[in-house]
Amino acid sequence: MGGAVVTGRVDLVGGGPGPIDLMTVRAWRLLVQADVVVMDRLGPTEIRAHLRPDAEVIDVGKLPGHHPVPQHEINEILVDRARAGKRVVRLKGGDPFVFGRGGEEVIACVVAGVPVDVVPGVTSAVAVPEAAGIPVTHRGIASAVHIVNGQSEITAATLAALGDDDVTTVILMGVGALPRLVAEALRAGVSRERPVAIVERGHHPDQRTTHSTLGGIVLDAGRIGVRNPAVIVVGEVARAGMLVPQLVAAHSGAGG
Ligand code: SAH
Repeated sequence: MGGAVVTGRVDLVGGGPGPIDLMTVRAWRLLVQADVVVMDRLGPTEIRAHLRPDAEVIDVGKLPGHHPVPQHEINEILVDRARAGKRVVRLKGGDPFVFGRGGEEVIACVVAGVPVDVVPGVTSAVAVPEAAGIPVTHRGIASAVHIVNGQSEITAATLAALGDDDVTTVILMGVGALPRLVAEALRAGVSRERPVAIVERGHHPDQRTTHSTLGGIVLDAGRIGVRNPAVIVVGEVARAGMLVPQLVAAHSGAGG
């Protein structure tokens, strides 16, 4: 029946990079109250143990060897459950609006007349480098951050960021595209010595960080078998031990 009042709602919730205690309190509150939780592969999957026992949990994430649920089907699930009067939480890794297709889900809800809200999350673009001691900005070293999806076309803006001493480039979903990215950057004249770090499984017990340079990273990543999920950082802040001299100075009370 057209024009029916929708009593359910959808909350797009950012779950952070993995650990349950890197979710916001608001995310937690909505999750433990939810009638339906639509989950991804990345993010705080441990939350399952804390959901209501009668909550419907729908896993739409990509598992190795399986296809993910297509976006239009995810949109349908959200809208259908909300129209059935359910409190639906769409849980995403990181922040819903950083390469999370959150905007598309908001549009689907708005078009369907379903109330929708967005809860920010700790994005891996900042928090995963941070877990490896890499600040994406640092006074006097990096004053801007360029965040890109490694699977997209490499734009002039990305090449400019890669070539700028003062800019940090953060690449998500970039492991597969790394050789192409590096080749294009080098062809565009970016220095082979530009520091690069790859942080795999940030904020997880098996986190691993690899430091190299633009000229060396493809060989190094191949040699040690770098895999997704990983965040690639290009720029001066990615230099190994970038913060160490300052930490040492601070702890030893050195002045000047
Ligand atoms: N919305 C998410 C990003 C989704 S795209 C956010 O804001 O974080 C998925 C990509 O995020 C992965 O390919 C990887 O590049 C990165 N990522 C997410 N969690 C990660 C983690 N714990 N460790 C390393 N990379 C991670």
